[in-house]
Amino acid sequence: MDFERSESLSRLGFSAFFQSQLQALSTSDRASPETSVARVLSEERGQYLISDGQHTRPAILAGRLGHADVRACVGDFVMFEHQHGTLARIRHVFARSSLFQRRLPGGTSAAQLIAANVDLAVVVCALAPDDADPHAHGHGLNPRRIERYLRAIRDAPARALVVLNKADLSPSAMLHVQRLRDELRGVRVLLASAEDGAGLAELESELVPGATAVLVGSSGVGKSSLTNRLLRSPVQAVSAVRAADTRGRHTTTARQLFALPGGALLLDTPGMREFALFADHGTELESSGFAEIDALAPECRFRDCRHRNEPGCAVLAALAQGEIAGERLEQAHKFERELSWQQGRHDPRRQREMRALYRVRTRSQRAEEKQRRRG
Ligand code: GDP
Ligand code: ZN
Repeated sequence: MDFERSESLSRLGFSAFFQSQLQALSTSDRASPETSVARVLSEERGQYLISDGQHTRPAILAGRLGHADVRACVGDFVMFEHQHGTLARIRHVFARSSLFQRRLPGGTSAAQLIAANVDLAVVVCALAPDDADPHAHGHGLNPRRIERYLRAIRDAPARALVVLNKADLSPSAMLHVQRLRDELRGVRVLLASAEDGAGLAELESELVPGATAVLVGSSGVGKSSLTNRLLRSPVQAVSAVRAADTRGRHTTTARQLFALPGGALLLDTPGMREFALFADHGTELESSGFAEIDALAPECRFRDCRHRNEPGCAVLAALAQGEIAGERLEQAHKFERELSWQQGRHDPRRQREMRALYRVRTRSQRAEEKQRRRG
């Protein structure tokens, strides 16, 4: 690859992790002289926009990938082939360093790929004018909802950051941010305002050149406004505030990757109403991801303690002492149930076991009924 091209690729986040994959590929047919590397900037219904750092072009998946059930998403690095006068074809998707995903809404166990190869995920939430009351818990600030995002970020895996936006709206913003920090132990929480620019320098200092950050959170919290601030130009459409409430409208329609002036890459995502966790065989369920719980776990009597009712449980002891919050432990248990159930749906052996168990049960139920009929 020529120097200029590799320079522009590294500006897109093409790191050593992908370089070494490219080296391995160049001995195979996937890296023919006609193919080159690009990053997926956006995707809408199977139509991609890809960039090699010099040109941006539309692309589609090569049929072979579609058949093999390979999916590409925003942030992916791909090998593509481009013949003049035709759409570019994506021939290969590089292995990902991370993948932020959720479970598709609607009772499936399929994943929705949201952002690939992200280093930092920023959970954006917002204050509202009625959060001026220092006794009210900011209505947009649901710690349990934030914990859901944090869990998905951990599984990606990516670094997490929480931004409490619209600081300008609430005179007691400092109090709310403090409360949120206390709730989400061990997570960095910044206060910001896309309106007046407060806290933006601090946010920018988290965005390292060549690293990719993704903004996630409900619609209307100001993700697009923050993106425009960071880009220093109004690229993303921002919704107008409706008269009666401060919730923005559904404006961010497509996920899109932007190069920031400081050299970091930023991905804005549309608001997600429902955030269901996704798990497959690779999802780690050993530790909870809740810092204060995981810190105590090594002191439990049993190495595989689930902190439910085991004797000698250090977490339950701390709970009784009021050192950890019941809501946090409850949420940790909830995630564990959700995720292990999910994991079971992806594991053929677990599925066979479940079916066998079901058969045994129905057989013994039938036997029981027979007994009963006989009296
Ligand atoms: P998104 O759906 O998360 O992308 O949210 P938008 O960026 O579209 O913002 C939703 C609404 O909130 C818009 O009317 C913005 O002008 C407004 N907004 C965003 N950030 C701030 C902020 O820091 N302060 C105030 N007062 N309004 C904001
Ligand atoms: Zn325990």
